[in-house]
Amino acid sequence: MQEERKFNFSAGPAVLPVPVLKKAQEELLCLPGCGASILEISHRSKQFGEILQQTKNNVRELLNVPENYKIMFLQGGALTQFAMLPMNIIRNTNKSGNYLATGNWSKKAASEAKTQGKVDVVWDGKEEGYVRKPTDDEIKLTDDAAYLYFCANETIEGIQYQREPNVDVPLICDASSEIFSRPVNMEKYGCLYACAQKNAGPAGVTLVVMRDDFVDMSGDDLPSMFSYKKLAEKDSMLNTPPTFCIYIMKLVTEWLKEQGGLEAMHKKNVEKARLLYDAIDASNGFYRVHGNKEYRSFMNVSFRTPTEELDKLFQEEAAKVNLTNLAGHRSVKGERASIYNAMPREGVVLLRDFMLDFAKKHA
Ligand SMILES: *Cc1c(COP(=O)(O)O)cnc(C)c1O
Repeated sequence: MQEERKFNFSAGPAVLPVPVLKKAQEELLCLPGCGASILEISHRSKQFGEILQQTKNNVRELLNVPENYKIMFLQGGALTQFAMLPMNIIRNTNKSGNYLATGNWSKKAASEAKTQGKVDVVWDGKEEGYVRKPTDDEIKLTDDAAYLYFCANETIEGIQYQREPNVDVPLICDASSEIFSRPVNMEKYGCLYACAQKNAGPAGVTLVVMRDDFVDMSGDDLPSMFSYKKLAEKDSMLNTPPTFCIYIMKLVTEWLKEQGGLEAMHKKNVEKARLLYDAIDASNGFYRVHGNKEYRSFMNVSFRTPTEELDKLFQEEAAKVNLTNLAGHRSVKGERASIYNAMPREGVVLLRDFMLDFAKKHA
């Protein structure tokens, strides 16, 4: 007997659209026209070549990526990008990587970047406990800034930019936990990247969208696998790419197109998040959100109950009604409901109703 799926609020790897999983299951033994599984065919095959091309086309269409940007599928997760970006862009130059430290992930990106070159953290939200993003006025770039790096959505704290920072240098953005959740204005970016396992597919592939002049900055002394220039020249096929992960990303991007694209996703995401935040705000302080109101994430809703005992009970009771993986990150504690694109509204409604009920019992 097949086990029943629960509503999975995991921060990552995270929920995927059921139609995507079904299609992958259907095609797993035999990819149409192939006589073998996607797991068994060469990355140099015509069939995989088509999958790669279609995935790129979908990404270009969804994110509205201009022609002068390359789309790459790389390995090593977002963390490898933390080091690879400065390795290619500021190492061996007298430029600085300017960073906004708005939470755990951007803080880590800055500290990894320091292994490669000059880094200036031009705004740090640490003392306030990472509850907000800086306003444009608070961002003071250094004169030697090559780029401004920021994390669009801090997955752990649940705080998100309403729009990108407005500055005069190209942006580099870690969009790992919000890629494909809303439209982006790619022209402001030197690079936008995301590991797949939050909102775009399985763990094992990182989507990197990079403007051509950034791609061309790679030093010739870099090992090939760390050089954007060499990776782009070979269309992500310098070595064997994560073929299965790219295939799943193809299915996810197809699904997104069927949903009406990113405008439509954004609307749905904002509405889903509002269901939870409205319940929280109506709870007379029983539930508290980690971040400041204007920076609340519509992807990761980070909140807590009045005590750690109640947090524990909340998660236990929720699991009994099939609402799973709601524990907050160990650095923030409390609860975190990750409600990515693939989390159905129905799951969010159930969680909201559970929250109302729980508050009534324990307030
Ligand atoms: C999950 C996450 C990462 C880490 O990704 P890995 O693929 O595990 O390296 C980095 N940044 C953000 C915003 C994330 O959500």
